Amino acid sequence: KPVLLWFRQDLRLSDQPALVAACHGGPVIPVYVLDDDGPGDHAMGGASRWWLHHSLAALGQALRDKGSRLILRRGNAADVLAELAAECGATAIHAIRHYEPWWVASEEALADRLDLVLHDSNQLAPPGSISTGAGKPFKIYTPFWRALSQHMPPDDPARMPAKIPTPSKWPSTEALGSWDLLPTKPDWATGFSDWEPGEEGARARLDQFIGEAKDYEATRNLPSQEGTSRLSPHLHFGEITPRQVWHRVAGEGGSVRTFLGEIGWRDYAQGILLQYPDVGRKSTREQFDRMPWRTGKAAKADLRAWQRGHTGYPIVDAGMRQLWAMGWMHNRVRMIAASFLIKHLLIDWREGERWFWDCLVDADYGNNGVNWQWTAGTGVDSNMFPRIMAPLSQSEKFDAADYIREWVPELADLPDDAIHDPDEAGCRPENYPEKLIGHREARERALAAYRRVKG
Ligand code: FAD
Repeated sequence: KPVLLWFRQDLRLSDQPALVAACHGGPVIPVYVLDDDGPGDHAMGGASRWWLHHSLAALGQALRDKGSRLILRRGNAADVLAELAAECGATAIHAIRHYEPWWVASEEALADRLDLVLHDSNQLAPPGSISTGAGKPFKIYTPFWRALSQHMPPDDPARMPAKIPTPSKWPSTEALGSWDLLPTKPDWATGFSDWEPGEEGARARLDQFIGEAKDYEATRNLPSQEGTSRLSPHLHFGEITPRQVWHRVAGEGGSVRTFLGEIGWRDYAQGILLQYPDVGRKSTREQFDRMPWRTGKAAKADLRAWQRGHTGYPIVDAGMRQLWAMGWMHNRVRMIAASFLIKHLLIDWREGERWFWDCLVDADYGNNGVNWQWTAGTGVDSNMFPRIMAPLSQSEKFDAADYIREWVPELADLPDDAIHDPDEAGCRPENYPEKLIGHREARERALAAYRRVKG
């Protein structure tokens, strides 16, 4: 009897326990289902669709190289898979476990109809398996990381089978091209050319980073340098596992501990997602429901200026334009740009979460929600709304001049001492906008709004 292998955010053949288990069960039918209904307001965003297209193409090729195929179907995941199973006479289905609320719902619906076997391997340790001394789930990162560090997975990934058993008759598949995952006109993805989606691209990216990992501590906060791994979309789509990254990097000297700690943030975010499935949809600290976020025409115009990189704050604008151009933004700048939207513009963090969701190639429900809420101070782990980040001094401190030059060409000719705050230096070019609001005024407005939350 054939066995279904359900791919989701695990588009790889190596370190793939679901594939190994399926191969032991009989002829394997690998399938990917594009489900735009299940996630509701979090249907996959535009940049992620671009990535998905290329990653599925790579996975399909890798499967063909092993004599197998990738079946593509669209619709409600549980319904489609149950129908496919009936069509092929399969009763068992293997998959990697995921924690997004819509995947959990699909898994529950499917488990009623088929023999669903879930495998953990997209995290260093299965979310929920690491707990405090009192047996409770962690809410704070640092103690979580300390505990997780003691439970690293061994370096014995599930071996990729040399051959995948094939069914005597293949079910029909939709054509990837018919899914229209790529932009047409305008083609906003022209700046995505540095990315190589797929398992091979992930491996190449890691190889490239290995040599640079030693300097991570010194360079990771400097947006003008390529100091971070840029593995995030590969990790999100499961083209590489954190276990593979961990074991490749751990042997390197220098500051790799700091890098591995960042990899740990992924696991932490999944643990929070398990406890708070709404983390990307509502403030975990409920008192923020009283926050007088700005809405209305002026706020909408400010939101649009932020999205397009026209706030008059060069570091914010550089980040937002990088995001639009390449589907990715440097972590330090993500924090600055997010904080600016929430505190300087007093706009609900969920507006920013949605924009990132649509624009990031690494858009990840858990990571995005946890980080937006961390920045806003609305999450379980931080209460830092009143700590208002000063974007202009951050820009100077982290030496962002070249980064601004790259992404905000209007300012390219300004010297280092003027580029962070051209208004203040009296040399703002005419084609660069005035600040939407001054820092001091914004700070006071945000703190006054926060007093309502504090009650
Ligand atoms: P590196 O510094 O090389 O880190 C290695 C890996 O560790 C990353 O690829 C990522 O998987 C993980 N990681 C690093 N930092 C974090 C973090 N703070 N939280 C969770 N995982 C982390 N990351 C996403 O993957 N998807 C998102 O949707 C996302 N949204 C974010 C939104 C905001 C407002 C902020 C402040 C951060 C967000 N991040 C998100 C976290 C972080 O910015 C990115 O993971 C990182 O910039 C990716 O670049 P890198 O791979 O070069 O990171």
